[in-house]
Order: sequence, then C-alpha cells, then structure tokens
Amino acid sequence: MSDWEHIRYDTPAERVGRITLARSEAANAQNYLMLTELNEAFDVAARDDDVRCIVLAADGKHFSSGHDLAETDQDMAALPTIGTQCHFDADGAEGYMAREAEMYVGLCWRWRNISKPTIAQVQGKVIAGGLMLVWPMDLIVCSEEATFSDPVVAFGVNGHEYFTHPYEAGARLAKEMLFTGRAITADEALRAGMVNKVVARDELETETLKMAEHIARRPMFGLTLAKQSVNNALDAMGMYTALQSAFGLHHVGHNHNKIKFGTLVDPNGIKVVRAEA
Ligand code: ZN
Repeated sequence: MSDWEHIRYDTPAERVGRITLARSEAANAQNYLMLTELNEAFDVAARDDDVRCIVLAADGKHFSSGHDLAETDQDMAALPTIGTQCHFDADGAEGYMAREAEMYVGLCWRWRNISKPTIAQVQGKVIAGGLMLVWPMDLIVCSEEATFSDPVVAFGVNGHEYFTHPYEAGARLAKEMLFTGRAITADEALRAGMVNKVVARDELETETLKMAEHIARRPMFGLTLAKQSVNNALDAMGMYTALQSAFGLHHVGHNHNKIKFGTLVDPNGIKVVRAEA
C-alpha cells in the first residue's frame, strides 16, 4: 500500500475510506500506473470490513485532466491484468481495443459496481477521461468553480471511453457537451442532476466527509442493497449495453483516424480546442 506513486489512501473518519489522486504536478492526468494503483486502493477499501463509504478525492487545483497523452505508449506487461483481456501489444485494432477495454471501460465498470457507496469529491477541471473517474462514483460533491467537459469529438472520436454521458447529464446536455466541447459549470451540472451538491472550495473536503460519515452510520447491507437496486434500474434502462455499443463506435473512430492520419486521434483536434480556449 505504501509504495503507491500516484495515489494515497487513508481513513479520515469513522468507517470512511478515502483515496486521493496525488499527481497534481500533472493535473492528475491518468497513466496506466495511476489507474492500476487506483484499482488496488478501491480493493483495499472495498475489502475492509470497517469501511462503509469510499471517497475519491484529488490533490491540487484540478480533479483530473484525463488520459495522460504524454504517455501514450505505456508498458502493459509491467502491470497486473485485472480483467480478462489479452494481446495488449497485438497489431491492428486488437491491441489498442484490448488496452482500452482493460484500463478504461473494464476498470470503471468494476468501480461502478463496488458494493459500498462511493463519493467523488471534485474541484477544478474535469476533462474527458477525468469524467471516467467521477461518473462511476455513486454521488458527486463538487466545488463552485468545478467544470466538466469532454472535448474529444474534436479529435475524431465520440467521447471518452466510459460513455455513460446520456445517463449522467441527460441526453440534451450530453449532446451539447459532445458537439460543442464546452465545459459545463458546477451549477449546470447540479441542475442536470449530474452532481449531488455544490459547495465553496474551502468547504469541499468537510462537506464531502460529512456526507460520507452520515452514510457510513447506516448498516452496510442496507447500503449495498440500495446501491444495487439503483444500479439494476440503470442497467434495466440499458446502461451497460449502451456503454459497450459506444465503446465499439469509439474504436471505429480510432481506426478511422489510424487509416486517415496514421494516429488514433485526429491530429487537428488540438488546434480546434486551442482556438476555442
Ligand atoms: Zn480511446
């Protein structure tokens, strides 16, 4: 537990486990090592009989800037395989799809189904793959200046890989976020039902822990049954099928770009995004 490089774990209140993204020097950009460590920490919290609620927080100004684009060629062989994928280094679509199925969709879906309540504690910017850490959590508390965006349509794909946008933001706002790439504010997210609570930045940690402690006073099994019941309702609305369908389309986008530009994303995307910044 102590040799994690990009995250920390502590128990800041009774029956509350807290994981903190600790890569603020890179705006908590996610490389494969960070995601692997995050998964290990979720396992620690999930398997601890004394923890009933898990908080996911982040150091620094921004919760997460998404996938670490500076580390696109990471070594999967150095990390444990958590799901059932293989052939991560295969040519063609096979290797890259297996990597994203393992590291993105697979891990996020695994965290979404942890049998304890989870709360994301969010400040600053959450961009593209950053949403992939926030949305699998059950509840979201954010600070007033927090913003949420998924600008990757400019890069020739449909959105980030954990494509639950319509379920999180509603279909209209999801389409606007994707089509325009603009960041929605904390207030817009609250009105859309995408977050539970918006608080002042200096009260973010206290308010999140207060909510976590409140939840953690309830019996574990009741919480688990309530969580599974809501998740089952989302699944009855097709959430998992929609997610997998969008993941397939995401890879149509990657492979289109690969054929057209030789890269998995449209290289002109960065110019489009910078021109609008
Ligand atoms: Zn992708």
